[in-house]
Amino acid sequence: MWFGTSQKYVFKILILGDTGVGKTSLVIRAVRGYFPDPETLKSTIGAAFFTMRYRIQRDLITAQIWDFAGQERFRSFMKNMFSGSSGGLFVFDLTNALSLDDLKNFWIPEIIRKIRADFFDVFKNNFILVGNKSDLKKQIEVTKDEIAKLVRQYGFKYFSASAKTGDNVSAIFKELIRMIYISPYKAI
Ligand code: GDP
Ligand code: MG
Repeated sequence: MWFGTSQKYVFKILILGDTGVGKTSLVIRAVRGYFPDPETLKSTIGAAFFTMRYRIQRDLITAQIWDFAGQERFRSFMKNMFSGSSGGLFVFDLTNALSLDDLKNFWIPEIIRKIRADFFDVFKNNFILVGNKSDLKKQIEVTKDEIAKLVRQYGFKYFSASAKTGDNVSAIFKELIRMIYISPYKAI
């Protein structure tokens, strides 16, 4: 048997969550390695697109990262953009309890509506739950209990992160790519 071949994969990665949770900051930290200046960070209009390359064993993976704007007015437009996606991050802000509620009540159900419930049982392993702004220790509003509840309900893997300090950011993207790579479903 010949083991020399390498495969190429393209994973479409969704970064989902409310406006202001730090999605664009996390992506820029992951892709470019710095925390973007909050003053110059404009709200994303529609979706911005970033590319990262990974290698797992001999295989080459291109991660196309879709950074959506979370604004209500873009939500209907966004629905079509889930198609062909491989998985992604559900991001909330640790200092904003409402942002976790919105994952629970809007973003996660939105993905489930796109795919059959039994399919979601497997496909949910292509998503990671991320609590961003872990650097703002004194302002943390979301309790460990609430996070644990969501983790139990869906079986998501959870990481806290800080786009500002860089804490966990590249580890999260690396783990996400690894999880999709080993998943039987690499796209919806
Ligand atoms: P998005 O709307 O989800 O894309 O969020 P942005 O990336 O635009 O960030 C919203 C605000 O939160 C900006 O003022 C960022 O500077 C700030 N922010 C993002 N990530 C962090 C973080 O990890 N720590 C802190 N302290 N602020 C952050
Ligand atoms: Mg943004």
